[in-house]
Amino acid sequence: MATISELIQKLETFAPFSYQESYDNSGLIVGNYGQKITSAIITLDTTEEIVDEAIENGANLIISHHPIIFRGLKTLTGKNYVERTIIKAIKNNIAILAVHTNLDNILEGVNSEICKKLNLKNCKILLPKGEILKKLVTFVPEKSAEQVKNEIFKAGAGNIGNYDSCSFNTVGNGTFRANEKANPYVGEINKIHTEQEVRIETIFPAHKERQIINSLLKSHPYEEVAYDIYKLENKLTTVGSGMIGELENSMKELDFLKVIKKEFEVGAIKHTKLFGKKIKKVALCGGAGSFLLKNAMREKADIFISGDFSYHQFFDAENKITIADIGHYESEQYTKQLLLNFIKKNFTTFDSQISKINTNPIQYF
Ligand SMILES: [Zn+2]
Repeated sequence: MATISELIQKLETFAPFSYQESYDNSGLIVGNYGQKITSAIITLDTTEEIVDEAIENGANLIISHHPIIFRGLKTLTGKNYVERTIIKAIKNNIAILAVHTNLDNILEGVNSEICKKLNLKNCKILLPKGEILKKLVTFVPEKSAEQVKNEIFKAGAGNIGNYDSCSFNTVGNGTFRANEKANPYVGEINKIHTEQEVRIETIFPAHKERQIINSLLKSHPYEEVAYDIYKLENKLTTVGSGMIGELENSMKELDFLKVIKKEFEVGAIKHTKLFGKKIKKVALCGGAGSFLLKNAMREKADIFISGDFSYHQFFDAENKITIADIGHYESEQYTKQLLLNFIKKNFTTFDSQISKINTNPIQYF
């Protein structure tokens, strides 16, 4: 039987939790990491009804896109649905795991599902994320350099776009003096030694730091390994918010809105005034994506599809782009299938299913 910890480790290879936004609370919210999973329910939101459904189905894990605890709790008295949901889950030994903005921010995540539904081509991230890349510099005696480099590449360093094994290498002289307690690989005790070394520079995603440093320490021949880690501000084009892509053939605005309404079963689309122009470039973001409107305009998208636009934000379109607010829940609904596919592909020891409850709190009349 798989444990929650094993599930989380697998998720780290798909949607690393370090890719979540700073305000988010993705990860295990209720439960123990060592708990063995009997069965899981997949949902966009965790509510009391979802906990009831888990109880009825003998499931002891709820995998939820939105974290039920978002800004912290000061009491657990049951005075609101959040507290009652948590209490019920704990009383029934049901764990709650949130996979939220880390799933929004990957190439094959929430937004690529929307791209697929709309048959968009050439999709890329709308706002690439910074500060997730780091640089490793280490100094290795020449004859061990290739081996050490290969080990840190194997652990996940040196990938840039479609290239792997990326590094920069310069040869120079390293110096050191070992004291009596040392057991030096080269050189003599109490004598300054000069060794020809290679300075290896490479980059890596921050969440792989531990495994890369472990490989470095294991494969490096020295007793004391010299290395530096730098934080980088570079943006990673494969991680970030929203997506932009193109329709194969441009469509009239209204025809495209009809396609969206049908594909996403939207009760009503809230949109800005139509200009009678053709739609070709489509920007989108599942959930509350209005913060990306400027990015969509900068990329010269013809339309921006998202949820949760407020009245004043519709003015910000400045007649330059069509905003289509298709609803928060509606835009993210295919996320459940995405999570289910991931679980089914990687775990055969527990059953998982999408919740039968529509948790959308918004109804249309
Ligand atoms: Zn959302």
